[in-house]
Amino acid sequence: KKTLADTTVLLSKSYKDKTAIIAQDISLTYLEFDQHTNQIANGLLKEGIKPEARIVFLGKDTHINYEVLYGCAKAKAVLVPINWRLSPQEILTIIEDAEAEILFVDQAFYAIISQIEQQLIGLTKIIGYNKPHSSWSDYTQWRSVQEKTPPNLLYDTEDVVLQMYTSGTTGKPKGVQLSNDSFFRLLDTMQSKHNDLWMDINGTDILLHCVPFFHIGGLWWGVQSLIAGATLIMQETFIAWQALEYIEKYKITKMAMVPAMLQFMLSEPNSDIADLSSLKGFLYGGSPINPPLMRRAIGILNCDFYQIYGMTETGNMAVCLRPEDHIDISKDCIKAAGKPLPGVVIKVVTPDFIDVPLGTIGEICIQSPSNMVGYWKREEATKNTLIDGWIRTGDAGYIDADGYVYICDRIKDMIICSGENIYPAEIEAVLSEHSAIEEIAVIGIPDERWGETAKAFIVLNAGYSLKKRELINYARGKIADYKIPQSIEIVEALPRNSSGKIMKRVLREPYWEKKE
Ligand code: AMP
Ligand code: MG
Repeated sequence: KKTLADTTVLLSKSYKDKTAIIAQDISLTYLEFDQHTNQIANGLLKEGIKPEARIVFLGKDTHINYEVLYGCAKAKAVLVPINWRLSPQEILTIIEDAEAEILFVDQAFYAIISQIEQQLIGLTKIIGYNKPHSSWSDYTQWRSVQEKTPPNLLYDTEDVVLQMYTSGTTGKPKGVQLSNDSFFRLLDTMQSKHNDLWMDINGTDILLHCVPFFHIGGLWWGVQSLIAGATLIMQETFIAWQALEYIEKYKITKMAMVPAMLQFMLSEPNSDIADLSSLKGFLYGGSPINPPLMRRAIGILNCDFYQIYGMTETGNMAVCLRPEDHIDISKDCIKAAGKPLPGVVIKVVTPDFIDVPLGTIGEICIQSPSNMVGYWKREEATKNTLIDGWIRTGDAGYIDADGYVYICDRIKDMIICSGENIYPAEIEAVLSEHSAIEEIAVIGIPDERWGETAKAFIVLNAGYSLKKRELINYARGKIADYKIPQSIEIVEALPRNSSGKIMKRVLREPYWEKKE
């Protein structure tokens, strides 16, 4: 029976003075990390928080993210990490939906918080928000006066420790609740002595952290490092040349990226000359990867490759393409997302949730021991997504005779731009408020650099005109920059089916080649 709260105690005993995390110029041992997390837990308890209280975190990636994650777990609270690229309004919506009590915020986001401060009425405390101070100094002050001894609480494997927001087809953010079990059930089967299916992350490893903490893939990577007694090297935010520099400088052994990051890293001029020989394992996933990029990566990085496929709702990875599948790139399985991890079952269904035969395309469903508990206060949405233990992914794909899972398309209306999910509904809702716009439909189109970008088809109100620049200016500040359509097209009318629904498939067709 393992919980996040209990693991740091164990590790601080066996690893003590070993370096747990390096973030910029700060380095923390396992003992220090454990003590900091105790201090946070004690501080939160002193603020009067009760079990399951939601605590919001807004900041770039440093050791503090993990201190607060584990500190919350030790206080039996639930951490809500927020994507700092979101607009003030989007951030406010999440804080309100979570009914959060405390906000940890990096000074760097002072300007954002000051715009919504008046509306943050549910919060009892903001930690880190103090204009004259430098980054996180307020937080450090608050933490350092707390007791270093562990709070006297009992932890349960079913305790919810994380509430991570995803948007969804309606555009309304939903909090995916993950428990201690979500972290440990899958990990335990993967790391059991009897299987060699997973990258063995252990105390000798040095991991590079560049996928953001506010995504399950990034947070998982850090947790995995801290569970294994490895050393975690953190980038504040992904910078391609710095990733190369860090691999060389820290002798990184394992790293994880989304394909867009890999593309940027391999496009850096120094990618040919950097010494990457320390690298043993490279994990990628979160969006489809194009074959030329994969071939280049295999040519340049001399290490084991792992692809993962999964969702926030499945508690991160559920399917994995293993190193041996990357060896012969002429084989078909290189195009697969991989095979189910131990304990995971995949099935493919029709829209009525009926199984389809092997090899037939349908909606991928995932039964995993790490699946979410549910969406926070969204009974209806939970019922539609989590059916008898199966997560409906909204991805279209099939399983072949050898058990490989292939992802072919997306049924859900979602765009993945540089690893960030964009739901067209959120963009459409905001832009349709513009006086020139009568109707708008947003789709994703393929993009060399970002994977996909948003494109808007617009029907204008009579007598109005609209330039791309005006639209961008209008959208800026209302939605996150990465969601703003990169191209717009003024059309006479949008294609609709007989029941009046906009047929996005028709809009998408010219941009997407049919998969064979
Ligand atoms: P998120 O909840 O942000 O992790 O997004 C999950 C979605 O990302 C999935 O439903 C897929 O559409 C997409 N995705 C994740 N991993 C892969 C992969 N290896 N290949 C293709 N799409 C992926
Ligand atoms: Mg993602």
